[in-house]
Amino acid sequence: MKEFSLLIKPASFDCNLRCEYCFYLRKEEIFGHCTHRMSDEVLKKMVSSFIDLDIRNHIFSWQGGEPTIMGLDFFKKALKLMQKHGNGKNVTNTLQTNGTLLNDDWAKVLHDYNFLVGLSLDGPAKIHDQNRFDVGGKGTHHKVMDAIKLLERNNVEFNILTLVNQANVKRPVGIYRYLKNLGVKFHQYIECVEYMPDGKLAPFAVSGIEWGKFICQIFDEWYKNDRYNISVRLFDTILTKLVDHQVIACNTGRDCRQYLVVEYNGDIYPCDFFVEPRFKLGNIMENSWEEMLESSLYEEFGKRKCASDEQCGECQWLELCAGCCPKNRPDYKQDARAVSELCAGWKMFYSHTIERFKSLADEIRQNRELEHQAHIHRQVMHMLQQGKIGMEAPCPCGSGKLLKECMPRS
Ligand code: SF4
Ligand code: SF4
Ligand code: SF4
Repeated sequence: MKEFSLLIKPASFDCNLRCEYCFYLRKEEIFGHCTHRMSDEVLKKMVSSFIDLDIRNHIFSWQGGEPTIMGLDFFKKALKLMQKHGNGKNVTNTLQTNGTLLNDDWAKVLHDYNFLVGLSLDGPAKIHDQNRFDVGGKGTHHKVMDAIKLLERNNVEFNILTLVNQANVKRPVGIYRYLKNLGVKFHQYIECVEYMPDGKLAPFAVSGIEWGKFICQIFDEWYKNDRYNISVRLFDTILTKLVDHQVIACNTGRDCRQYLVVEYNGDIYPCDFFVEPRFKLGNIMENSWEEMLESSLYEEFGKRKCASDEQCGECQWLELCAGCCPKNRPDYKQDARAVSELCAGWKMFYSHTIERFKSLADEIRQNRELEHQAHIHRQVMHMLQQGKIGMEAPCPCGSGKLLKECMPRS
């Protein structure tokens, strides 16, 4: 079976914050104005049936709304179910949170069960608090700072997710250095592209050019000072594509069938940005995973990504950009082929960085080769010491030479 992961919204769009740019708060139109909480039945069915699948990695990514409003006991229940059904399988949990409800009890569980935590932070208080406030309209920056200290104190691995919007798009280097000075080693910059009902960009959203300038400057700063000790998710994704030809983030793939969204009531959708009745694939209480994964609706959704404009077909960056995420295409509701709002930004970014990406990719390949040779060398020395191999034997490195001819090189 093809690998896929779950993006779970146990409390649907319910959240203790009211961020100005939040696209998921608007899901009230679909799920109604009431409290949304995943039931024990749905939780049990989701965990047991997903773990039963014949895939290598069982990844549960908890998101919202704000998933921590479910309470810690809900997550303890989920972890117990994973242990019960896991049976030695490879299970990973991730949590994307605004961080405001975390405390030491949470941190202990996150640490003990090796959660990878994503914490949302848009920059210093005067920037973060412009958009990220609670229900009473108060900024939440100080609470995120507390969460960072809490996670560090408890050795929980976390990255910072920064939504690039009008409040911070003009200050890329300032934002980057701010995070770096906080000691953040894993950065993730996500573009905020949202449309108004009349099709215009929302006031907090960024244009393609703004995005391009922002991410180019982040790259320059990172490349100059930190390329060996700070991870920026987009750059990792590009390097993995260049070195291993693998897609590790859906926006750089040519097909949108990468994960499934599980809503609080068991409804299944193909993507976080397309939780809409027309894309509902089924419900886990009624449909099997296979049924939903093999449905024509899912196939059609997956292919929307490469049904892009002919500009993309002829573009030199198609391999890396993959036509950009369909939610950034202006008329996506009517025509999935429209060119992304960010197109100009991607072109600017790839032309500005490609040579340096290529040289980093070469470096990674060379380091791997050196590591490989060192590994073989250690193995051969071990076998020689144990008398399990002679100098007249073919060298295990695959050179086709005898060990006595090859060893000096390795
Ligand atoms: S914390 Fe996340 S889910 Fe909650 S309002 Fe802000 S963006 Fe939306
Ligand atoms: S629409 Fe965008 S976010 Fe959704 S799966 Fe496709 S690339 Fe990923
Ligand atoms: S850079 Fe623009 S034209 Fe090229 S693949 Fe991306 S969205 Fe398409």
